Amino acid sequence: MAKKSGGKKKKSVEVDATHLVLSCIDHRCTDDLASVVHHLIDEPQQWNRYDHIALPGASLGIVQHMFPAWGEAFWQQFGAALTLHPKITTVLLVDHLHCGAYKLFYTAVDDREYDGSSRDAHDRITGRLKRKLEKRYPSLKVERWVLEPRDEDALDWRVTNLDDPDESYDCHEHDE
Ligand SMILES: [Zn+2]
Repeated sequence: MAKKSGGKKKKSVEVDATHLVLSCIDHRCTDDLASVVHHLIDEPQQWNRYDHIALPGASLGIVQHMFPAWGEAFWQQFGAALTLHPKITTVLLVDHLHCGAYKLFYTAVDDREYDGSSRDAHDRITGRLKRKLEKRYPSLKVERWVLEPRDEDALDWRVTNLDDPDESYDCHEHDE
């Protein structure tokens, strides 16, 4: 006889999504970001509390004009997430240094060279997207973060608050 599933008593902790994370698609950041998101969520149970939208360049993917459909798709997906999960109060914009998409699009948007080892371009572009988000969704809180290598040429990263650089969390470490 087939065993009835769900026989084991499950924890009855309901957790709603309260945050939405925007990140780059970059494979170097995926696991690192997942290992620190709970630090960025100011809620009693920090796990499983966020929806996640990823596109090349994170904030820049929406601000750039080379592929306007990306921005359109973002706003549509963002609206759907808020409809599905109305308890979302906070958007976490998570850019990363050494971003390949910034190398492709940044100069066209800001008329400057992209320096992948500096937070400057990410500060400007996340600031621009933050203002757009606040205009469309005045009740949402928008935070700006950047993933960056902890040491030069290291595989191990940390995430830093662009509005308060003293707030920083180390991502998990990779085995050699
Ligand atoms: Zn990237």
